[in-house]
Amino acid sequence: MRRNWGNWGEFDAPRGSKSKKPVELKEIGEFGLISWIRGKMDLRDSNIASGIGDDAAVITPPKRCVSLVTTDILIEDTHFRLDYTDPLRLGKKALSINLSDIAAMGGTPQYFLLSMGLPLHLPFRWIEEFFHGVQQVAEEYNLSLIGGDTSLARKLTINVTLIGRGKAGEVIYRKGAQAGDQIMVTGTLGNAALGLRILKSHKGDSSISRAGDSDLAELIEKHFSPTSRIAEGRLIAKNHLASAMIDISDGLMADLGHILEESHAGAKIWISQLPLSEAYRRKAPQYISRDIDLAISGGEDYELLLTTPRKKGEKLLGLFRQSGLKITPIGEIVDPRYGLRLLLDDGREYTPRRKGHDHFKKPR
Ligand SMILES: [Mg+2]
Repeated sequence: MRRNWGNWGEFDAPRGSKSKKPVELKEIGEFGLISWIRGKMDLRDSNIASGIGDDAAVITPPKRCVSLVTTDILIEDTHFRLDYTDPLRLGKKALSINLSDIAAMGGTPQYFLLSMGLPLHLPFRWIEEFFHGVQQVAEEYNLSLIGGDTSLARKLTINVTLIGRGKAGEVIYRKGAQAGDQIMVTGTLGNAALGLRILKSHKGDSSISRAGDSDLAELIEKHFSPTSRIAEGRLIAKNHLASAMIDISDGLMADLGHILEESHAGAKIWISQLPLSEAYRRKAPQYISRDIDLAISGGEDYELLLTTPRKKGEKLLGLFRQSGLKITPIGEIVDPRYGLRLLLDDGREYTPRRKGHDHFKKPR
């Protein structure tokens, strides 16, 4: 059943009241908030014996499957800025970045838990819109909210735990890449990082994305609303086409580094093969001096990066073509002693300024 999200502002000032002040969270209270959330979110799965409303959720374990569990945290001023992130897109993103991790294992997402640290002054309308975004993605992927927690916090903090299922023989790990395997990536690289760079250079004024420049709009949208590659992950997993896989959240270099570490392997990447969108090609030179660098080490692409044995490469490319999905070969797995090298067409090595996002390093 589809809940009515059109009826926003149900917690706005009572009818007849002269107050124009938006209702703040403190007027709703924690239990008011939880019961409101419970009323809005559907349980879409008959394997849920109990969702929100008990001490723990009760779910029937999937038959002949393993459970995939992942979690991600979004913190105000570290991962997003309240002044230029609209709550609807943030709600979508909170789920999407977790979906990306389930996609990277080749799994199917099912349930999620959502915990939030909320500042007392937050207008309730913000929460309504945030949940509208969460609900849109939940509906698209048939996900059920089965629990969570709320607490008072100085900065807005959002934590989603997503549970999915996968067949034991189909799950794809970071380990498993072998010398000779092809390296491939879905979609295009660098759009989200360039979108963020553009936003920052306009001091966070996201209205520039509505100023009529479709390139800017596309790049900024990719930063706010990453797409999850669940369909791509499933296609790869059920056909046993990858030897290793990861989603790119911290940048191509950093995340390929994780595959190499877990697989004890090295890699060559051909710079000229990296898939770039037309918008990226047109706009990147205006915002960054070495314009390929954001595709190499910019974060938040949420594309799938995988390795595939050479004899399976053609089948993989054919299946993606048939399904209308985009995937590009960008390099090759080699001996671990080679390390990770980016190569230009003339064979020279290319060194980007930054290797990728490190969560504990201060930004320069
Ligand atoms: Mg990941």
